[in-house]
Amino acid sequence: MNELSQEESEPPLSMDLSSIDIPLETETKIQLFKKHDILHSDFNIINPKADEFREKFFPQATERQWNNWRWQIQNSYTNFKKLSEILDITHIDNFDFLIKSRKLPLRITPYYASLLYGKPADYALTKSVIPNRLELVISPGEENDPLHEDSMCPVGNLVHRYPDRTLLLSTGFCSVYCRYCTRSHMVLKDKKHYGIKAWEKSIDYIRNNTSIRDVIVSGGDPLTMPDKHIEFLLSSLRAIPHVEIIRLGTKIPMVLPQRITNKLVKMLKKYHPFYMSIHVTHPDEITPEVTEACQRIADAGIPMGSQTVLLKGVNDTVDTMKALVHKLLKIRVRPYYLYQCDPIPGSSHFRTPVTKGLEIIQGLRGFTSGYAIPHYVIDTPGGGGKIPLLPEYFQGRDGNNIVLKNFEGKSFKYYDPI
Ligand code: SF4
Repeated sequence: MNELSQEESEPPLSMDLSSIDIPLETETKIQLFKKHDILHSDFNIINPKADEFREKFFPQATERQWNNWRWQIQNSYTNFKKLSEILDITHIDNFDFLIKSRKLPLRITPYYASLLYGKPADYALTKSVIPNRLELVISPGEENDPLHEDSMCPVGNLVHRYPDRTLLLSTGFCSVYCRYCTRSHMVLKDKKHYGIKAWEKSIDYIRNNTSIRDVIVSGGDPLTMPDKHIEFLLSSLRAIPHVEIIRLGTKIPMVLPQRITNKLVKMLKKYHPFYMSIHVTHPDEITPEVTEACQRIADAGIPMGSQTVLLKGVNDTVDTMKALVHKLLKIRVRPYYLYQCDPIPGSSHFRTPVTKGLEIIQGLRGFTSGYAIPHYVIDTPGGGGKIPLLPEYFQGRDGNNIVLKNFEGKSFKYYDPI
């Protein structure tokens, strides 16, 4: 197997513009971070396992470098050769072919890799980010853009599906690529921060549509961008009078918690009401680093909700999901959505039957607090939007009563005259 070169497999790293005043440059430049950018950080938590990993595989890196998010991006695992130093992936034959055919890049931060190190090949988090030849199996119903978001883009990189809210896609770059990514058609196509020209078109569209009161900045992962880029977007949106709420969708706190610097949260909290939707997969992601990152976000008054994709063999048991939602509440993240896995090409090995999701919700409701229970939804193929699914608590009518089943399976009547 040949090692894939960075150029072949990887998105360009955006130029760091933190020393340049707004307005930003109009084009994204391909440039690695400069040495002085990766020397310092105000993040200083390393759990013992991650520190052991750092000493073993990155002995030249200081703790400060390890805790620097740019260092983490710069030193990420992006090819087979480097990955095989920490994981036994010899069972993945023809790795290069797999990456090229599937086109979704491989990228794992050293921090996240430390969670996978020493675990079996079928470890939940490993399955979620390491390529698998089953990705080459295309099943009925799968499509590149199952939510038909491309057809709902009035301008490039802006999805307007619901009347009062819109999704602004800021970048095609992520610090870790999930193998089941709904937007893999985008991240594999663009692989970069879109830049101010593209954002200005989106911002103009939002400015000219007074029905939009809620904007979700997503991607890719917007928190992979330098602070000044993020601030450009947030300040432009906050300057639009009818935009009441700004939300940001990200997986960064789980895969690159070092990105949540004090400087970043200080900037984010200027743009309240500002919410964060955090993509979370498994309870093992909740480490001391993640706890610190979420504490910083919560202390800045930013409400956090989780988004979890239900994945076969990864998080599809009541016990795993219960552990996850409990850990999330402890770090002040409200479990928000549990998604049925979207039918992107090569994802059937990740999809559970819908009855599995209902079983999980049934195993949570009544057995833990309501705050811990996410909405189980299918984002319907074809662009129908999110549709919630509930176990059958409503059993029907009996004269002037409705009949309800509780979490223990017992039936009760509620007087509700016709
Ligand atoms: S972080 Fe989100 S956008 Fe990026 S690969 Fe994962 S699911 Fe896709």
